[in-house]
Amino acid sequence: MISWLRRGFSICLLSFLISTSVSAAENEPTREQILEMRMDYYIKYSSEMLPWYYLAAIDQYERNLQEVRSDLTKRDGVVAFQFSEDDWVGLLNPIRDDRNSTSIVFFDGRGLDGNNDGFADLKQDDDVMFTLTNYLTERVVTEGDFEKTLKEYYKRDEAVKQIMTNAKIYKHYNTVDLDGRAFPLALQHNYSYRSTWGDSRGWGGRRMHEGTDLFASYGVPVKSTTYGIVETKGWNDYGGWRVGIRDVNNTYHYYAHLSGYTKELKEGDILEPGTVIGYVGSSGYGREGTSGKFPPHLHYGMYKFNGRTEWAYDPFPLLKRWEQQEKQAKKNPAAS
Ligand SMILES: [Zn+2]
Repeated sequence: MISWLRRGFSICLLSFLISTSVSAAENEPTREQILEMRMDYYIKYSSEMLPWYYLAAIDQYERNLQEVRSDLTKRDGVVAFQFSEDDWVGLLNPIRDDRNSTSIVFFDGRGLDGNNDGFADLKQDDDVMFTLTNYLTERVVTEGDFEKTLKEYYKRDEAVKQIMTNAKIYKHYNTVDLDGRAFPLALQHNYSYRSTWGDSRGWGGRRMHEGTDLFASYGVPVKSTTYGIVETKGWNDYGGWRVGIRDVNNTYHYYAHLSGYTKELKEGDILEPGTVIGYVGSSGYGREGTSGKFPPHLHYGMYKFNGRTEWAYDPFPLLKRWEQQEKQAKKNPAAS
């Protein structure tokens, strides 16, 4: 009865979504409502071996890919996970948009009818979630099977790493509402930065400058810009004392040339926007301990994983936005 009610409820929400997209913009679901609808799907299809944050982690991973890949269509639904047509109807099925469970089974397709409407429909969130969890449930029997199954499905360690990062962060904060961001330096300190994307740099050969340099005094605290997990910490000949943090948007945030770290910081730490990770310095451009070869600054870089490679993109416009948001929040604390 409860599951029937839940299904009815989801269908209502879905038709609500579809109808609002063509009618007045004021009726469009808010960001919070969309996140709630997603969460409802994750909880509805979760099980002991597949907690909601595993399903949320996979779904978010696929959503991120669809944001940055032109060869992937953005799925039109509450959840982003999508099966390929081949997977859904079966490779040799002549009907490419087949929704008939019997012929899909005959052609060895994966598509299942999750909402019992008589169709295994690739466009319906319930059918997709039911098929996904069915696929996973068959394979995830003991601890560790989840990661193994992800590796089999996505074929890349980076994909597994990113999905497990998402899962840990979602589990830790017990929500998928994690869009908050922070400027990496406290506004009350003196600092300056400009767009330095693509500038040539002075050490280590001809490499393009992949990031933004924020100049500030030694010891100014450096903060995490996002929710994320500390993936790397330690010396790098270019970056000096650096920290790498991965967030739930397939983005790796790189903080370099630090003079040191906060005492407690270690790899695997889960942190939020504004958490202090270290202090501005001028470490780097040489072997471990090298410092003072250039004025102290924070080098901040952003790298996006698109399912195949990781590529750098310009953080400058985002830094400007986060800085503006914090200034605004300071001026008008009640509104934020
Ligand atoms: Zn730099």
